[in-house]
Amino acid sequence: MARGKGWLSALSLTDDNGHQLGGIVDHRLTRRALINEYRRGRLRRDQVCDAHPELLRAARNFGDETIVKCPICVEDNVVLVTYVFGPRLPSHGRCITKPTELDEFRRIARTSVAGDYTAYVVEACRSCGWHHLLRTLALNPEREQRAPRRRSASR
Ligand SMILES: [Zn+2]
Repeated sequence: MARGKGWLSALSLTDDNGHQLGGIVDHRLTRRALINEYRRGRLRRDQVCDAHPELLRAARNFGDETIVKCPICVEDNVVLVTYVFGPRLPSHGRCITKPTELDEFRRIARTSVAGDYTAYVVEACRSCGWHHLLRTLALNPEREQRAPRRRSASR
């Protein structure tokens, strides 16, 4: 699977050698299993393309473009939407709308004594409503330090 090319791809979970970076949980295996189930006819399209209207709205407005075709409708590319969960954030998370926001949360996470912040990266198709959690990423510094490379804002 190709990786995203926008700023959210700075959250990508592997380094150039394909090794996992610290603090990141990859959900691509369950994604593949779900797509397989759909292709085998064990899941209906409305069971896998049931993105919440809020998610679709976020995908249209703030979604990070990728070069990855939607695995279900194969008509549109999926976009990535990131939500951050943590202390003093809404229970449904806070949608990241610009790259500086994520940096801000990293900064807050470094100094926070209130608890951990976690970013959830969701892929969504604006055409058919397919969506899936791609990865979760701890924004707290202990785990981040194990990552060999720091992200650099590219957009
Ligand atoms: Zn689609």
